[in-house]
Amino acid sequence: MWPEDPATWRPGIALPCRRRTLGWPRLRNSVRPAMSPSDATATVPQLAVAVALPVPLPRTFDYAVPPEFEPRVAPGHRVEAPFGSRRLHGIVLRRFPIAESELPPERLRPLLAAPDDEPLLPPPVLTLCRFCARYYHNPIGEVLAAAVPAAIRRRKRRKAPPALGVPLATVASPAPVTLTTGQREALAAIEADLAASRFQVSLLQGVTGSGKTEVYLRAIATTLAAGRSALLLVPEIALTPQTLARIRARFPDAAVLHSQQSQRERGDNWERVRRGAARVVVGPRSAVFAPLERLGLVIVDEEHEPSYKQDSAPRYHARDLAIVRAREARCPVVLGSATPSLESWHNARTGRYRRLLLTERPGAAVLPAVEVVDLHEETRAVKGFPFISRRLERALRACLQRGEQAILFLNRRGFSTFLQCRACHEVLTCPRCDLALTYHQSRARAVCHGCERADPPPTRCSACGIGAVHYFGFGTERIEQELALRFPGVRCCRLDSDALADGTDLAETLERFRSGEAQLLVGTQMIARGLDFPNVTVVGVISADTALNLPDFRAAERTFQLLSQVTGRAGRAGLPGLSIIQTFSPGHPAIARAVAHDTDGFIEQELRHRERLGYPPFGRLARIVTSGRRERSTLRHAESLTAALRAHAETAQVLGPAPCPISKLKDRHRFMTLIKAPTRAALEPLLQAFDHAPRPPAGVRCALEIDPVSML
Ligand code: ADP
Ligand code: ZN
Repeated sequence: MWPEDPATWRPGIALPCRRRTLGWPRLRNSVRPAMSPSDATATVPQLAVAVALPVPLPRTFDYAVPPEFEPRVAPGHRVEAPFGSRRLHGIVLRRFPIAESELPPERLRPLLAAPDDEPLLPPPVLTLCRFCARYYHNPIGEVLAAAVPAAIRRRKRRKAPPALGVPLATVASPAPVTLTTGQREALAAIEADLAASRFQVSLLQGVTGSGKTEVYLRAIATTLAAGRSALLLVPEIALTPQTLARIRARFPDAAVLHSQQSQRERGDNWERVRRGAARVVVGPRSAVFAPLERLGLVIVDEEHEPSYKQDSAPRYHARDLAIVRAREARCPVVLGSATPSLESWHNARTGRYRRLLLTERPGAAVLPAVEVVDLHEETRAVKGFPFISRRLERALRACLQRGEQAILFLNRRGFSTFLQCRACHEVLTCPRCDLALTYHQSRARAVCHGCERADPPPTRCSACGIGAVHYFGFGTERIEQELALRFPGVRCCRLDSDALADGTDLAETLERFRSGEAQLLVGTQMIARGLDFPNVTVVGVISADTALNLPDFRAAERTFQLLSQVTGRAGRAGLPGLSIIQTFSPGHPAIARAVAHDTDGFIEQELRHRERLGYPPFGRLARIVTSGRRERSTLRHAESLTAALRAHAETAQVLGPAPCPISKLKDRHRFMTLIKAPTRAALEPLLQAFDHAPRPPAGVRCALEIDPVSML
C-alpha cells in the first residue's frame, strides 16, 4: 500500500498516474517567490492546509503554510506543493492550525507557491466536488481537474478583478408568448420555491413540444430579477445551434460551457462566470461545476438522457450532482422530460419530487398520430426487405406534395451494418474489438465503431479465405441512397457523426432544412431531440429495433424514450403530424406504449419488472470493469477482485466476473463485476474492500462506476 503521508515519499517511487493530462500544469514563472525548505525555520508556520492533488489517490495531503502565503490559501485557492520529488499543483480544501494536523509539524513540508489573490473555486463548488469524490468514489484531485477548465488551471496568475463596481448584469429580453394553463401553473410552483429559497425537486413532465423550454426561460428570468444566478444543463447532443439561439435571444449574456469549445473560449467563459459577469450558464454535464455564486435555480433538460453520465474518470451523473448542488444552495431544481427516467418518475411517485405536468401542446398543435408497420408482414408482402415500407413511402409522397417536410430516423450510421462470408457465414469483426465491422460507402471503408479503425473492405473472407464477402444490414447512408432512388430531385440531408466528421456543418445543415431548401432529413439520435421545425409533418422510424435487443436492462427504457422523442418532432406547429414506426417487434411494450403516447403506462410496467429483479430504482448498482491486453491475467485479476469483494458483501450481491457485452475493445479484454445493493450505504464496505484489494498486474486496469448507466 501507499505511504501514509507525502513527507515519507522518496524520489524514485513511481506514482500510479492513470492519466497524464490530469496534472495541474506547473507555474513556471510564478510571480510569487517559492520558499526554499531552509527558509521554513526563519518564520515558523502556524497554519496548515489540506490540499487535493491530481493523483489517483482518494485522499488529501497536509502542508505547512509559510506565513507570507497565508492571505492566499483559503479553501478553493490554487497552490503548488512538493510531492515526493515532484512539484504539483493542487487546490486547498481546508485550512487549520498546524497543531491539528495528524502529522507532527516538523514532518509537514511547506507549500512552494500560492499564486492567486482569490480562490479558483467558490465554496459551493468545492462542496460539490467533495461530494462527487465521496459518493462516486473518485479521487478528489481528479474531480477538481474535471471541474476547472484546463486553460484556467494553466493561467500563471489570476488577479483580483479591478474595482469597477457592479459587473455586467445578465439581461433578459421579454418573452414573446402567452403561457398555457399548464405552463403557468408549473412556473408558479417553481417561482414560489424560488421566492422561499426552498430546495425542492420538480419533475416537469411535459409531452414533446408542450413548451417546457418556455417554462425554463421564464423561471430563469425570474431568478435573475431576484438577483440570483441560474444553471441550465442540457444533454451533449441537444446543445444544437437552435437551442442556443433560443437561449441567447432571451439572455444575450448567458455563458456556454462545453468541452467542444476551444480551451481558450471555455476558459474565458468560465472566467466570466467566476467574476459574476454572466449569471446564466448553459452546458452539458461538466457545467454542473460552473463557478456560479448566489445560485437560485437549477434546470436539467431531458433529465433521462444517458449523456449526463460521464463514463470516463471521474465518473459521475450530472443530473444527480445538479440535485445535490441545488440542495446545498437551497434553491429549486427542475428536471424536465417528456419521458422521465424510471428513477425520477419513481421519486415523484413516492413523494420525494413534485410532479408538474404539461399534457398538451400550445395552440392548435396536437401530438402526432403514430402508426406501426410490421416488418415481418411487409417483408413477406414485398418479397424482400423494403427499407422504406409502402405505408411510409405513401406518407412521404403526400407530405412532399403538400410542400411539407419529413424526418427519417435510424440509430445506426454507415451503409451496411455487417459484412458476412457467403461460404462460412462468418461475420467480419474488428481485429482489435469484439464488434462487427460496418461498411461506410462515403469513405469506401469497413469501419469499427469501437475503435474507429477504417480499412478497405476485404473481398475475401478473412476467416476461411475462400468465400466472397456480402454486405447486410443498413445504416443512415443506405437510407439516404434509398431516398434518392425513390424520390429523385427531392433534396435530402443527412446528420450523423460521420457526416460531421466528413465536414458537414451541423448549424448549416439544420438551417438548410429549416429554410426549406431540403425537404428530407435523415439521421441518428442526433436529430431525435431538441429540434423544432414547424413544417415537419411526417417522421419515419426506419427501424425501432436497433437498441431493443442490446444486453442491457435499460434497453427497453432507451427505446421507448428515443421513439417518443423522435416521433415528437412531427406536427409541432398546428399542422397535423404523422409518425410511422417500422419494427419487427410491434408487440414489444416499449414500442406499443410509444405508439399510444402512454408514458406512464410504460413506466409502471417497466418498474414492476425492475422491482422483481432488484434493479434501480429498487436498489443500487456498482460496476467494475477489469480490462487488459492479456485475457488470462485480466480474468484472473477480475476473479480475485470479485472474490475479495464477495467476502465483504453483507447485504449486497456480487455477480461475475463475466465478459462485458463488448468483450474486447481497442485490444483490451473486458470483464465486469456487478454489485447489487439495497442502498448506497450497503456499498460502503465493498468500496473499502476495493481500495484494499491487491493491485492489478501491470497493464490491467479496474474502473469502478457507481450507479452505472451503460452495461455494455
Ligand atoms: P418542449 O421544450 O416541451 O419540447 P418547446 O418549449 O420547444 O417545447 O415548445 C414547442 C414550440 O411551442 C416552440 O416553438 C415554442 O416557441 C412554442 N411555444 C411554447 N410555449 C408556447 C405558448 N405558450 N404559446 C405558443 N407557443 C408556444
Ligand atoms: Zn475496433
